[in-house]
Amino acid sequence: MAKATTNVPVEKNQYIELDITGQGHEGEGIGRYEGFAVFVPGAIRGERVKAKIVKVQKSFAYGRLLEVLEASHHRTEPLCPVYHRCGGCHLQHMSYEGQLEHKQQMVADALQRIGKFAVRLESAPGGEEGDAIPVYPTLGMQDPWRYRNKSQVPVGWVDGRIVAGFYAPRTHEIIDMEGCPIQHPYSDEIVSRVKRILGDLRISPYDEATRKGLVRHIVARVGFHTDETMVVLVTNGRKIPHIDELVSRLRDEIPHLVSIIQNVNAAVTNVIFGPDTITLWGKDTIEDRIGDIRFSISARSFFQVNPIQTGVLYQKALEYAGLTGDETVIDAYCGIGTISLFLAQKAKRVVGVEVVADAIEDAKKNAALNGIENVEFLVGQAEKVIPELYAKRGLRADVVVVDPPRKGCDEALLQTIVDMQPKRVVYVSCNPSTLARDLRYLEDRGYQTQQVQPVDMFPHTFHVECVVSMSLKL
Ligand code: SAH
Repeated sequence: MAKATTNVPVEKNQYIELDITGQGHEGEGIGRYEGFAVFVPGAIRGERVKAKIVKVQKSFAYGRLLEVLEASHHRTEPLCPVYHRCGGCHLQHMSYEGQLEHKQQMVADALQRIGKFAVRLESAPGGEEGDAIPVYPTLGMQDPWRYRNKSQVPVGWVDGRIVAGFYAPRTHEIIDMEGCPIQHPYSDEIVSRVKRILGDLRISPYDEATRKGLVRHIVARVGFHTDETMVVLVTNGRKIPHIDELVSRLRDEIPHLVSIIQNVNAAVTNVIFGPDTITLWGKDTIEDRIGDIRFSISARSFFQVNPIQTGVLYQKALEYAGLTGDETVIDAYCGIGTISLFLAQKAKRVVGVEVVADAIEDAKKNAALNGIENVEFLVGQAEKVIPELYAKRGLRADVVVVDPPRKGCDEALLQTIVDMQPKRVVYVSCNPSTLARDLRYLEDRGYQTQQVQPVDMFPHTFHVECVVSMSLKL
């Protein structure tokens, strides 16, 4: 028997029954078939399922979920009718409570497996003391729907009709969509009205195959706390026919509109925005807030997509920073300065460092908008700028906050933290694996990991964010 001579107990097209004992970082169920790992997207920890093996690798296989034989109590009906085709969400088949538990578990697993930490899953903040590091229950949303403030949808033709929605997986075929339950309701309304207005005025959508036609993407941005909305039309050329009528109908029909923007992108590319941005009507920006800090957001500027949970995350970072008003704080990977401005309210001085020059320009404008003067923003790689500030300008920080991209912190930055010896390090992370690696580096060089708080920034997706407090060992 072939199966007996190899270590791989499954083969393609085989039907198996499997107990799902774990959950992978993309939310897929994981079970062991005769000890061999099988990933089954759509299956939930605790379930027994029937699956068909679709792909076999050396040390694991993929199975397609055929039937749930014993369902988890977290299994639920996805709210979105196109959940299985869209690919934007990954966990809608799991109750929200189940998603939050899963995310807490993901963080704990990474700290254990990669960071070699002893952790304990806490059921509520402030549990009993002990040597193991507490990983708190994920802070979720009261209402985990309609949380996104930016929608970017491709526009096209299907059978002579204008459609806008999402690309079918692995293709550029646009699936028309009525609405998206994780988008702010205004965004859905903007997309559907723009679609109709374009149709009425016979303004053509862009066709990727022939490179003819005008409108490539509709982008809607919403200020959650201000109710201001912006429409961006990304076009293949500068001239828009019937422009006056277009603007007047958009103004009449779109709720809370304060800004109509055109962005010209004539390149053959998957990148949404092109180089030229023109304000067709109204303001160049909309405004929103995170906590008490105001932000001015232009068509292309980066802004956290879930402003409610961003506030929750940064409030935790502020708490972990333990500021009294006397501290110098470094905010590494500061983006548009959200965390820096948040902390500046309670610190003596904050220095933010970020590699994208446009983001630093936005950060400076946002500081001015809020009248915050005790912050300084510097462009450059954190791992170059901060060691230089330390060695050449003698900068010493009491608290260092890092919020790196998925790949985590560069070792040169971590080493500078160790040399600089801030009292506290606050690590904001979007990737538990690199978080665990970096915490271990600091832990072995004088820091102690104290509290780990997962925060759900992107309900129904597999993304896991968390904030961690570390302090210098005495
Ligand atoms: N704290 C930010 C967001 C952080 S996202 C906010 O509140 O808006 C991670 C940021 O790190 C991105 O803005 C990215 O441009 C930046 N970045 C990536 N690599 C970097 C590096 N080597 N040095 C400094 N910034 C970097």
